[in-house]
Amino acid sequence: MWNKKPAKVSNCLNKRPFHSDLSTIYVMAEVHNCDSRADMGVLPHALVLPYPAQGHVIPLMELSHCLVDHGFRITFVNTEFNHDRVVAALQIDGTMEQINLVSVPDGLDQEEDRNDLGRLTEGLMKTMPLCLEELIRKSSEAGDRITCMIVDESIAWALEIAKKMGLRPAAFWPASAQLLATLLSIPELTSKGVIDADGAATRQEMFQLGPGMPPMNTAHFVWNCIGDRRTQCTVFNCILDNNRAIEISEFVICNSFKEIEEPVFASAPRILPVGPLLTGLRPRRPAGHFWPEDTTCMSWLDEQPLSSVIYASFGSFTIFDRRQFQELALGLEATGRPFLWVVRPDLTTASGDAYPPGFEARVAGRGRMVAWSPQHRVLAHPSVGCFLSHCGWNSTMEGISNGVLFLCWPYFADQFLNQSFICDVWKVGLRLMPDESGIVKQERIKSKVEELLGDEEMRSKALLLKDTAHRNISRGGSSSQNLQAFVDAMKTSTKD
Ligand code: UDP
Repeated sequence: MWNKKPAKVSNCLNKRPFHSDLSTIYVMAEVHNCDSRADMGVLPHALVLPYPAQGHVIPLMELSHCLVDHGFRITFVNTEFNHDRVVAALQIDGTMEQINLVSVPDGLDQEEDRNDLGRLTEGLMKTMPLCLEELIRKSSEAGDRITCMIVDESIAWALEIAKKMGLRPAAFWPASAQLLATLLSIPELTSKGVIDADGAATRQEMFQLGPGMPPMNTAHFVWNCIGDRRTQCTVFNCILDNNRAIEISEFVICNSFKEIEEPVFASAPRILPVGPLLTGLRPRRPAGHFWPEDTTCMSWLDEQPLSSVIYASFGSFTIFDRRQFQELALGLEATGRPFLWVVRPDLTTASGDAYPPGFEARVAGRGRMVAWSPQHRVLAHPSVGCFLSHCGWNSTMEGISNGVLFLCWPYFADQFLNQSFICDVWKVGLRLMPDESGIVKQERIKSKVEELLGDEEMRSKALLLKDTAHRNISRGGSSSQNLQAFVDAMKTSTKD
């Protein structure tokens, strides 16, 4: 089982719908009453199950590394599609002794679009449960029992499997605690008439979940910011399933820290922050990237003046049409500053050479484009001055951990909420809004960069936040204590 060769678990077909009987609410087990695996002389072994998206695989891989440091072995389960990408992007060797990469099918045909989150959600629910059961059983038969299961909350329904197979169940939430609290408040939102039974906002208005929490636009509820109406309904129903299944979980940990979301942690004490996770910073340990990192940008950054570089990166989903892509290129050029721009192979819908005519030649030397960067290392580099970001939660945490200023350009899902945290609550960034034609124009990019970089008050706030973030994960810090409590509990075995 613990060979280094990544394994596949693809020989199982599941024709059965999952979750038809998800009605029992399981009361949290009393951790201290359980037998200790340490007493039994068996190493803790966690099955880690991310939702199949880049922003979920990366933080769960980092959590796996943390668990390995605490004596765990890990079976890390990707979908076959993502497993192949992760393995292809690995640029290092021989450091995976305690993390076994395995894969299960995602229920979609080879050529189907994995960015269609409605189809993906349906495929996973249909295919994964039996495959996971088989994986857990086979591991046991091989004398290598899996002892606990750490499931991405976005597929919390999989916790039913942990319960069925007698594994200690825990959930990991890779976004803001505020977002999870919002999802868990759906019954209340429905009863108050803020949303209808299908999750559609009954009217567009600003809305606050509780005192001190960031204002949200009802049009930006996450389930309404993903795909078409059909996708939105599928995602909404999956959230309802997850809300029920999360009750099984003994822990719900998240990649955040106390001070940045204090009101929500006070009102939802079961959500435990263990962040910020320092994703992608461990030498010779894989971060779980889907694309190979272009590390040549690090030596380029070494040559740039202190705090001068605009780092522009829009995560793994954002897509620009040709017009917006070109306007962005011209905006970066117009700043007159050095910039590092992540141009993912699928960042634009435009075919062929999408750059404005002559752009590459004009910015040569000053502008650097890469297909995928070692982002966290980039953000930690002293020459980076600001982060032009889509505000994915991982990017947000990575920026905060490094005290960088944000220029916010959200694309979908929870990114509008994250923008609100950055600009309205923590006050470490500015919004980059489109004009009446729906385009963010080059002149606006230039002027907002100037405004941002000239704001000394904002910079001091960002540096304070960076200190607070690091205090949390240092020995004795609040997140570090939460992680230790989680680890201790996961090390104990369920009663057989
Ligand atoms: N990332 C990276 N290199 C890049 C762009 C992104 O390593 O060039 C990483 C980034 O550090 C983050 C993740 O990909 O950990 C993206 O997650 P996020 O939540 O920010 O956005 P999403 O991709 O989910 O929209």
